[in-house]
Amino acid sequence: MSEPSGTIEPTPDASVARPLAVHHWQVKTVLNRMGAIRRQGVSQKIADWSINPYRGCQHGCAYCYARRTHIDFDLDGAASFEQEIFVKSDAAAILRGELRRHGATWNTPITIGTAVDPYQPVEGTQRVTRDLLRELCAARAPVTIITKNTMVLRDADLLAEIARRSYCAVFVSVTTLDADLARRLEPATPPPLKRLAAVRRLVASGVPAGVMIAPILPWLTDASGALEELALAAARHDANWISSGTLRLHPDVRPVFFDWLRRERPDLLERYEAWYVRADPPTNYHDRIHPRIDAIRASLGMPGGPPAYVDPHPVQAALF
Ligand code: SF4
Repeated sequence: MSEPSGTIEPTPDASVARPLAVHHWQVKTVLNRMGAIRRQGVSQKIADWSINPYRGCQHGCAYCYARRTHIDFDLDGAASFEQEIFVKSDAAAILRGELRRHGATWNTPITIGTAVDPYQPVEGTQRVTRDLLRELCAARAPVTIITKNTMVLRDADLLAEIARRSYCAVFVSVTTLDADLARRLEPATPPPLKRLAAVRRLVASGVPAGVMIAPILPWLTDASGALEELALAAARHDANWISSGTLRLHPDVRPVFFDWLRRERPDLLERYEAWYVRADPPTNYHDRIHPRIDAIRASLGMPGGPPAYVDPHPVQAALF
């Protein structure tokens, strides 16, 4: 990993009350090949290829698994993760070269935002995600995006063009319809109904978009009827699919989330400490949640994800 360089710019940002420092980070590559992780004894991959324009995330979600990445920079995964944002300012130019070397064939889409949110507030001024999308559009590369921010609407034109040329799927993460809980849990994100409204506008603009109910947090967002109402709201906002996932707490992230519980829900702390001895909750929680989500989707006639990407050059891709 190359060292972050450049100056620290104090950047006023009206949407985030906390101070913000932007570090310009010169990297050699932006396209990452992703490995698998093991969950509940099963090997899983979020994506084969990923791009993360930023390191650190102003959204400040208490449970964020990416907090641990700040430790690589000898920074803490708590306040620093939310206030010191590393920007891959030259990412688009680097990606252009990488796309040229890769060629025209892709077995799977490239996912933007596997680690941190590509539409966190600083994107409003830095515009790295938009520049990356321009390159991907020109290269006719298939793209998926994961975000909690309605700023994704700014790029609806490009995303619709990518959908026409190759493939596009936008996953908008919504954890709860409870706006007060969302504000405390995910402090700098838009309220849940605004995120759902963004899904509707994306779909109306020709951008395939769905709701990602993730992470599902035991005792916080999984009450009887809560997931059902959220899924129904997603369907009513024209979501093309509903995907889901339960909370994972890496050992480096656990103290930050447990501090949040101590402040906001001390009544739940002991239960979380007992359940999250490992990164994942007990297997029987998955065994209860997954059939419930399947039943909700079945009742709404909703798929669990976007249509699979079909490579128009399968022979060449197999040779790649
Ligand atoms: S929006 Fe995503 S990346 Fe950003 S803090 Fe929340 S969970 Fe982490």
